[in-house]
Amino acid sequence: MSEVCDALVIGAGPAGSAMAILLAAAGWRVSLVEQHAFPRRKVCGECIAAGNLELLDRLGVGQEFHAIAGPELRQVGWLNAATTLVADMPACAAGPYAFGRALGREILDALLLRRAREVGVSVWQPLQVRSVAGTIGAYRVEVVGRGQPTRQLETRILVDAHGSWERGPKITGEEYGARVPNRAGDLFAFKANFLRAAIRPGFLPVLALRGAYGGMVLGEFGRATLACCIRRDTLAACRAAEPQATAGAAVEAYLRRECSGVGQMLAGAEREGAWLSVGPLRPGVRLSARGAAFRVGNAAGESHPLIGEGISMALQSAAVLAPLLAARPAAAFDATWAADVHRRYAAAWRGAFVPRLRLAAIYAHLAMRPPLARAAGGLLRRWPGLLMTAARFAGKTRRAQISYLKPPEPA
Ligand SMILES: Cc1cc2nc3c(=O)[nH]c(=O)nc-3n(C[C@H](O)[C@H](O)[C@H](O)COP(=O)(O)OP(=O)(O)OC[C@H]3O[C@@H](n4cnc5c(N)ncnc54)[C@H](O)[C@@H]3O)c2cc1C
Repeated sequence: MSEVCDALVIGAGPAGSAMAILLAAAGWRVSLVEQHAFPRRKVCGECIAAGNLELLDRLGVGQEFHAIAGPELRQVGWLNAATTLVADMPACAAGPYAFGRALGREILDALLLRRAREVGVSVWQPLQVRSVAGTIGAYRVEVVGRGQPTRQLETRILVDAHGSWERGPKITGEEYGARVPNRAGDLFAFKANFLRAAIRPGFLPVLALRGAYGGMVLGEFGRATLACCIRRDTLAACRAAEPQATAGAAVEAYLRRECSGVGQMLAGAEREGAWLSVGPLRPGVRLSARGAAFRVGNAAGESHPLIGEGISMALQSAAVLAPLLAARPAAAFDATWAADVHRRYAAAWRGAFVPRLRLAAIYAHLAMRPPLARAAGGLLRRWPGLLMTAARFAGKTRRAQISYLKPPEPA
């Protein structure tokens, strides 16, 4: 069986669904392939910075987001060993929304995917893109699913939004770097949800621990999310200390032990669902100005999760790329035009996101090294305003550039 489309998007995370919605709104025939059935939980801190909420409105999911998401994030904190420091979250001065909010990824991703269907995107789920052959204007995409016949889809343009925590499909013409050897400093990410956690509504504490960092927040319906990244060597030590426990439970015990603030917030809490984990993470830029596929979201590049900007980068990278692609009809897309879009997108992407990636790397290393984290705590105690400044630099007051996007209409 074969189906032909203008653009095929691999992966229905925030980047892929946003991309599919925007291209469909521009009149393109879009297919979106997602390997998992929804709703599905995902490792993520689930905070969405204020500057993106207008973009969610434009994508057509704002109303539901505002009805369900957790309280506005109006305070930021630094939790380190026995230290808890709190400061006001700086408001996003431009645009209609001043503060970010948190929403479970099983809800956010399902809302965006439903919207994609509404605007006419052809959704293939749960099916996995296994390989892609061909070239711009005529790709052949092999799609597989458990117990289902292999399908061939055909597309003029390919958008890779498969994230970064799983091996992506093999795409002819793409450059693949050498396999990176395991290192003690590799990061593994964990997330769990809790009911009845004693976390103040609207408080977003950053957890700084020896060999790990994380965050906690109250999302929809009073449900808390605890997410963290932990070094490979620290994780091994946690597991050795709790040999009977699962990896998630060992990490939870470590967080409670190392950071009294976490212990207090979880004292009367009950975990909802299992701990999830992914890794190793590979923060960095994966964008290629000459690749076959256009990459958005984590597939293009990933910042250390400490600053909680991955969903912003996923949505915003789609919002940058979609108008560049849609500036000419899909049928007129040739290799020369593709190369030009690749160049302009790469320049815009680097300008928008590389400073955030660099800053996140600095914050992450500072948080995971106790002498540095203690020194940072000392400075923050003396000048609490520095915490606001750090949040501002991390992007919490930045408004997504969306003036060039047309709001999508239902099909
Ligand atoms: C611990 C932690 C905490 C975080 N906290 C925050 C936070 O608070 N705020 C924030 O903004 N960001 C946060 N992030 C980052 C954020 O989760 C990611 O940046 C974001 O999920 C990237 O979105 P994406 O759409 O690029 O990829 P993903 O969300 O990873 O989506 C990719 C999709 O592609 C699908 N897929 C993969 N391969 C295939 C295939 N071959 N065929 C079909 N489908 C495929 C996957 O199933 C998946 O649904 C955090 C990350 C971590 C690790």
